[in-house]
Amino acid sequence: MDRKIIVLKFGGFAVSTGENIKRICAIVKKEREKHKVVVTVSALYGVTDKLVEISEKISNLPAIAVEDAAKNFYDEILALHCKTAKECITDEKILKEVIEKITALLEKLRITLIGVGYLEEINPKFMDYVVSFGEKMSVYVISGALKDANIKAVPLTGYEAGIITDSNFSHAKPLPIINETIRKNLMPLIEENNVPVVAGFISADIKGTATTLGRGGSDYTAALLAKHLDAVEVQIIKDVEGVLSADPKIVPNAKLLKELSYAEAMDLALFGAKVMYSKMIEPAMDAKIPVRVKSIFKPDDEGTVIVKNEEIIDRIVKAVTMMKDITVVNIKGVGMAETPGIIGKIFSELGNKGINIVMVSGSSESNLSIVVKKSDVGRTLEIINQASNSGVRKVEVMENVRIIAVIGAGMAGSRGVAAKIFKIVADNDASIIMIAQGSSEVNISFVVEEKFSEDIVKAIHREFVEK
Ligand code: ASP
Ligand code: MG
Repeated sequence: MDRKIIVLKFGGFAVSTGENIKRICAIVKKEREKHKVVVTVSALYGVTDKLVEISEKISNLPAIAVEDAAKNFYDEILALHCKTAKECITDEKILKEVIEKITALLEKLRITLIGVGYLEEINPKFMDYVVSFGEKMSVYVISGALKDANIKAVPLTGYEAGIITDSNFSHAKPLPIINETIRKNLMPLIEENNVPVVAGFISADIKGTATTLGRGGSDYTAALLAKHLDAVEVQIIKDVEGVLSADPKIVPNAKLLKELSYAEAMDLALFGAKVMYSKMIEPAMDAKIPVRVKSIFKPDDEGTVIVKNEEIIDRIVKAVTMMKDITVVNIKGVGMAETPGIIGKIFSELGNKGINIVMVSGSSESNLSIVVKKSDVGRTLEIINQASNSGVRKVEVMENVRIIAVIGAGMAGSRGVAAKIFKIVADNDASIIMIAQGSSEVNISFVVEEKFSEDIVKAIHREFVEK
């Protein structure tokens, strides 16, 4: 029988030590008995953060310190990759080749960093180029390890795998042409029994300039590949067992969720569950491909599977999640009622700048609240101020707040859930600062003061999930 394609994405702590990379090899080997396998990987654990850090640091250094800083970074990252490669590759020839490739990449990175240092500036375009090295290097380590395990692996950048994007650096969107390019670039390799090892997260625009899909975006790469290759499933394999009913750091007895719908998973990811990248759900949902989240340490466990319709709604509320590092921006002004276009203008400008509006609610025509990430507040205020001559009178910023989202498709058909939730909020002496308007039927989300948030999450979990 013709074997179907499966996409396996490895990220987080799964792409760290040689020991874990050997686990990746074992999983791929086993999966190959049943499927044609396509692999996507993140950068080695922690490397993307380091790349972001050095870019920022080096652009602020005095010129005299730049070359040393670039060289020190080169040494550190080379040592990390060599150590990891040696732990998972025994064949001398394969190891030598991997180290050569990585050394050549790092030499390019070193020169780039010197440029950033002397220019004293890092813009999103440069940043994308710099961070792209993380995945460019990791695909060599992983494919080297796979070759060492006698699996025909072929390392590829996102662009080489057919992922071409627009030029919105740091949050690029794939172009419609990937409909053709992914198949065209990967099918011949797959047909010949190779395992493509595709760099997650990184891609390039039509001119070949490096772009990225946004932090955490390698899940998105996996879903795009799965969609365009007609895969039977896409698996997100990391160091967690699956999707949990709450953050175990807040709720120690959070439960593993066996099954979720796409809508539930998307809301969970949007509102703070770090387990997957929200945008990845879209391509999977489009193509009706199940997404499975599971642990590198328990590869035979089922993990969590995300499908079109959840089969059993055993509980009305499945999960409660919390989003930190957000800010409420209240936009007030009588003039706004007369100028409906102004809101559209603000929203589209925020969109153009890659600022994601996490939540919106309008209490009246002349009053609108939005929630954005803390890191986006400065730019958000700039955009609103630019629009202020068209009628915004006052802008208020509220910090130290968090969004709590209660998620479960079963809520749509059952009465009194909201009342219960809001009673819990009141019992905790908190007041609701904002409630999402027009949110999907699978979640109820609201903003409260930070100091109350964890207790409320615990109480909601107790009431709806533990009972
Ligand atoms: N390496 C990238 C990041 O850390 C992408 C990913 O891991 O998904 O954001
Ligand atoms: Mg990463």
